[in-house]
Parts: sequence; C-alpha cells; structure tokens
Amino acid sequence: MYYPEPITKLIDSFMKLPGIGPKTAARLAFFVLNMKEEDVLDFAKALVNAKRDLGYCSVCGHITDQDPCVICKDERRDRSIICVVQDPKDVIAMEKMKEYNGLYHVLNGVISPMEGIGPEDINVPDLLKRLQDETIKEVILATNPNIEGEATAMYISRLLKPSGIRTTRIAHGLPVGGDLEYADEVTLSKAIEGRREL
Ligand SMILES: [Zn+2]
Repeated sequence: MYYPEPITKLIDSFMKLPGIGPKTAARLAFFVLNMKEEDVLDFAKALVNAKRDLGYCSVCGHITDQDPCVICKDERRDRSIICVVQDPKDVIAMEKMKEYNGLYHVLNGVISPMEGIGPEDINVPDLLKRLQDETIKEVILATNPNIEGEATAMYISRLLKPSGIRTTRIAHGLPVGGDLEYADEVTLSKAIEGRREL
C-alpha cells in the first residue's frame, strides 16, 4: 500500500518497538496524525529526554538521571543486603511492594546460551566488586523463574559460594516461566519472605 513518505517513516519507527507489527504500527501512526500538535511535541520531547537524561547507575546498574542513583545514595536503606534482578523494571516492581529496604543490583540481562549471552555480557563483574567493598551479609537472587533466570541465579550462587555471603533465591510463589515485573505485590512480597538458602 502506498503512504506518503513521512507516514512510512513513522510506521517504520513504530515497527522498531517490541511487539509492534505492521498493522499496529500503521494504526499508531494514523493515531499520531490525529493528535493535537502540542501533544505530539510533548511525546517527541519525552522520547528524546528519556534517552538523553537517563543512564545506568555506576554502582547498581539501575536506570537513573543521577549517578549514583537515589536508591544507592539513600542512607536509610539496609546496606547489608543486595537484591539481584534482571531488569530496571524489576526494581520498580520491588519498590512498589514497599517491604524491601535493602540495595539492588541490576544485571540488565540474563545468561542465555541460546542467544549467545554469557556471564561477561551482563552486569556480574560489578556485583563481585561490590561484594568486596561493602559489608554485604546477604544476596537475594531475584531473577525471573524461567530457564534463563534460574541458570543465571545458579551461576551467581556458585560464584558467591567461596565468599561465605548468605545467598538466597526468591520462593516460587511466582508463576514458573513468569516475569517478576508482572507479579502482583502480594505474590512478590511472599516470594521474598519465602526465599531459601542456596
Ligand atoms: Zn544505584
């Protein structure tokens, strides 16, 4: 089908987003055409600013607009415990729960031999560095309960064994194959409560 070039470009841009096929991309592009100009400008600005102003915390790997991030800087948090998650969205899910008061470490990925992602491709070396410097008593492995998440948790727990630091894995109140970020707060809080020693 023929579209004027600016629409084709817009459709192509939407198609770069995950889960968006050509039909949805076309629908979104035409939706944008019908939006008020100021809303479109706000939308475009939000995209550019998010990309420009956000980076990764040099301590924990969480997305942040200041380095270190607010969580790492917060003196009221328990600095003896680190919760290891796959993704910044998992930190946000955990924070919504409002029961965990320790620190985080965001891997920004999981080990996945199928996709050629090894331990060196995720934020593991920085975790090991943190464990040397800080007075960490426990590491909670809160990667997703699927094959990659489990493999990553096992890998890290083996690395930590010689350090003598207590290493725990969140309980499986979480659905197997599920995503931490989609768990409701009660399930997530039960999963943390019921964590087990590795
Ligand atoms: Zn941080």
